[in-house]
Amino acid sequence: MMKSKQILLSSPHMSGNEQKYIDEAFETNWIAPLGPNVNHFETELARYSGTVGASVTSSGTAAIHLALTTLGVKKGDTVFCSTFTFIASANPAVYLGAEVVFIDSELDSWNMSPEALERALVAAKKVNRLPKAIIVVNLYGQSAKMDELCVIADAYGVPIVEDAAESLGAEYKGKKSGSIGKIGIYSFNGNKIITTSGGGAMVSNDEELLIKSRFLATQAKDAAPHYEHSQIGYNYRMSNILAGVGRAQLAILDERVQQRRTVFERYTAELESLEGLHFMPELANTKSNRWLTTMLINPAVIKTNPFDVMVEMNEQGIETRALWKPLHLQPVFKHTAFYAHRPNEMPISEALFTTGICLPSGSNMTEDDQYRVIDALKKVLNKQPATVKAV
Ligand SMILES: *Cc1c(COP(=O)(O)O)cnc(C)c1O
Repeated sequence: MMKSKQILLSSPHMSGNEQKYIDEAFETNWIAPLGPNVNHFETELARYSGTVGASVTSSGTAAIHLALTTLGVKKGDTVFCSTFTFIASANPAVYLGAEVVFIDSELDSWNMSPEALERALVAAKKVNRLPKAIIVVNLYGQSAKMDELCVIADAYGVPIVEDAAESLGAEYKGKKSGSIGKIGIYSFNGNKIITTSGGGAMVSNDEELLIKSRFLATQAKDAAPHYEHSQIGYNYRMSNILAGVGRAQLAILDERVQQRRTVFERYTAELESLEGLHFMPELANTKSNRWLTTMLINPAVIKTNPFDVMVEMNEQGIETRALWKPLHLQPVFKHTAFYAHRPNEMPISEALFTTGICLPSGSNMTEDDQYRVIDALKKVLNKQPATVKAV
């Protein structure tokens, strides 16, 4: 049998204009982590997200690290974080020596549960250990219940860092995802909705935090005629070349959102009628960027699990992926505190992880590619192997 081409989960999709910005940087010899593309990209990104400004970085992880640093997180502090996410959401808190507390998801958005957050804050207040920051993640392009979460966080005076690494271009009640918390962060990693091959950004309406972020991202150089340092900084600034790629990518972001939403709509049109499948919901008054199409497979109806499906799809040259394994289940966070959506019930994030799967969702997928995925899935799900694997 002829081996057909591999269908990837989410691959870079260039607009064709990236090279123009790169050439410009070469012609003017701005091959540095500063230069006109960096400044323009920051202005354009802030305008897009509807924030006062942006600070662009070498990765999304670096942006979270800078966000927490500018909020004053230090050794011995506590930081709350969504449990249902990629580990990069929480790692920077650990770099800073803070203790992380994980918060479960709820079913409407799959993101942070306001109920669990409130219980965690009540408990923290009792022992006089309120967190310095709450990292709220907007997974797969879907915003968390930001209004509810902000009311609770505000009542305790704790700032929210919106991890919008996966939700750039999404909207929550008319506002851009990432613009609602005290700080928002984006990622331009190769698999995200737009990419600079590697990169990130912090956005905020607080100009002071942005100035501090850029200062810390360039080794914390004090104003002096020589190298003078009164603080420890990082080398986290985005390069002028990559910012050029980012400018071209940002210009077509809305088109990419539409393309990912079309991919999602095709999947649901073809698969929604199969009993036992449940696609990630979209909260009322929000617009997901549908970065990845994700769905749950009800094991009581379809006798399989995402992990077997992944193996079988892979045999047909189709990349699928498990949903994020909750961080409170990760060996590295074994002893970390965790608040479930409802006490004494199976955590929502664990139920999502054990039954969910991500489908190939690139904006550059052809319709034929997508029908190959759909046909393969229909076959795999109809086979119904006898065992349900415990994870
Ligand atoms: C990708 C991602 C990050 C990290 O971004 P990088 O640019 O890869 O460092 C952080 N949080 C979430 C939820 C992500 O998906």
